[in-house]
This record gives sequence, structure tokens and C-alpha cells, in this order.
Amino acid sequence: MIIVLKRHASETDIATVSDLVCSLRYQPRLIRGVEQTVIACIGDELSNRSLEVLRNLPAVESVFPVQKKFKLVAREYHPADTVVNVGGVLLGGGHIPVIAGPCAIESYDQFRAAVQDLTRCGVRLLRAMPFKPRTSPYDFQGLKLDGVKIMRDIRSEFDVAMVSEVPGPAQIEILRDVCDMFQIGARNAQNYDLLEHIARAGKPVLLKRGMASTVEEWLTAAEYLVVNGCHQVVLCERGLRSFDKATRNLLDLGAVAVARQLSHLPVVVDPSHAAGTRSLVPALARAGLAAGADGLIVEAHPDPVNAYSDASQQLESSTFETFLKDLAPWIELARAQRARDAANL
Ligand code: PEP
Ligand code: MN
Repeated sequence: MIIVLKRHASETDIATVSDLVCSLRYQPRLIRGVEQTVIACIGDELSNRSLEVLRNLPAVESVFPVQKKFKLVAREYHPADTVVNVGGVLLGGGHIPVIAGPCAIESYDQFRAAVQDLTRCGVRLLRAMPFKPRTSPYDFQGLKLDGVKIMRDIRSEFDVAMVSEVPGPAQIEILRDVCDMFQIGARNAQNYDLLEHIARAGKPVLLKRGMASTVEEWLTAAEYLVVNGCHQVVLCERGLRSFDKATRNLLDLGAVAVARQLSHLPVVVDPSHAAGTRSLVPALARAGLAAGADGLIVEAHPDPVNAYSDASQQLESSTFETFLKDLAPWIELARAQRARDAANL
């Protein structure tokens, strides 16, 4: 940590601050400038107590942390891209899959029709959502256990891997043997108790960024997963709450590039929840790939107009082939870029 002292700080002030720094198990090193004195404090900021409390002393102007709040997810710690294996489908390190499926499982026929359309054009990783944490308690909450049964039936027919949102610790066991990756939704992005529980469940986790989380908060949430034993983590940018309602959420493409620079974990983009409108989804998908995404997660429904949730943003699953065909050159470019990035590491 770096402590900047006020201009009028006396020798007694400097000694007082230095003593406090020592008592907090850091070694102070004085740097005397022409006008101000700075104390560089040597010690592990992650295991020691923070020195930020010293900001309240009359002689202290500011206190800056030097170390990042995340370590295991940092690229400094692990330079090569992490590759996540989701039921045999690879994601990261140049593997750029498109995950797709309806917002929610609504019935056996609806889910089966979506899976049939999507697998026909090569999708192997499915959104399978029997639980839907919704902002309003009056909105469709998912079929819950009936939806889990539908997942089992579909798995026995199709060769697919499934991603399911876990709204709370109680659903971990229910979903453990039927899905291949757990999703933490934006509303749970900083539910640390859930992150700790899910990390111990032994499955890959797709961690959405909270709708008002900073990149640091997103990466420290991922750190909760890794430090508790889950190394197969995928970050997901899904847009932030903003002043402008032209899109449902503001897709933060800069954060995709920053997250890839700061972390070795793969980053996927969710253009559906960012766009909120069907016609905008292809452009945001392309933009996500151009910004460095390692994959996409896209909503697709056999009859989106009559969907129980997110009807305006889901693509029609029977047209998914065209969507993927238009996207193919962008995926190729992203792959080539990833190979160049890896060669420059
Ligand atoms: C979802 O992916 O089903 C979802 C609810 O998205 P988010 O958590 O990003 O709102
Ligand atoms: Mn949705």
C-alpha cells in the first residue's frame, strides 16, 4: 500500500504513521519528496489487514492499495488461457462455442423443439433452465422439478451438454447430475455464500457479471469460486444497467477486453440479455467476438413470440442456422486473433 502524507505532516506525524504501519505488519519505507512525504508499505495486502483505516489520521492525505484483490484468477498468476471442459465441449484457449437455448424450459415439447433445431445446426451446449430467478414474484419462475425431469428426458435422446442456473444452495444437489455447468445469474453475482457452496460442487461454473458490478467485483467473485476449489470458471458479460433504455442493458465490450487482459479465465458474451430485442442480437454477438469473447450464450426459442419470459429477445430456433452462418466468419477471425494472442504470451 502507498500512503501519501499531507504537506504539513511533521516528523512526529511521520513517526506515528510509521509505527501504526508496523503494528499492522507492514514495513514502512519513507520516500521524501520536495513537498510531500510518501510511505511505501511492504507486506501482503491480501493476508494482512488493510491500511485504508489510516486514511482517517489527520496527517494522511490518501492511501492506495497496490495489489489487486484477486490472485488466482489473475493472468499474472497463470499466463495461458484456461480451457474449460463442459461435458466434452471445450471453451477458451481458441475454442469458441455458441451456447444456445430458450430463456426457460416451459414444456417438454417446447424444450425438445428448441433442442432439435439447435442440435441440427451443430450446437452442443444448451441453455437448460428449469429454475428462473425473476425480478417479480408474479413472473414465471420456471417449471422447477418438472423442468429437471424434462432435462433428463432430453439428455437421454440428444448428445448435448447443459448449462443450468442455480438460484440458491438448495438447487445444487437437484441439478448436479443432470447439468454439465452451473450458471450464477446476474442477480446472484455477489452472493458469496452461494459462490462458496457452488465452488465445492465439482462442476464448471458460468459466472455472470452483476448488472452494476465493477470488473474488479466480477473478478473477485470469480476468485471466490477458484479459492474454494472450482478452477473451471467462465466469466459472462451480459450488459450493465444504464441510463439509456435503447438496449435492455449496456453491453460493456471494454470490460470483455479488460477481463481477458487481467484474467486467464474465458469470457463469454450474452448478447440476448444485453440487447433485449431480437433484431439487435446478431450485431451484439459480432461485437462480443470482436472484443475478444471466447464464446457466446444466446437465447433461442421455437416460438419466441409466445415465450413465458424474455419473449422480445429470443431468436427463433428454426432460424438459428442462418444466425450461425452469418456469425461463422467472425468466429474464424476471433480464433485467428486468439492464436496470435497465445503466440505473443
Ligand atoms: C439468464 O441467463 O437466464 C438470465 C436470467 O440472465 P441474467 O442473470 O444475466 O439476467
Ligand atoms: Mn432470459
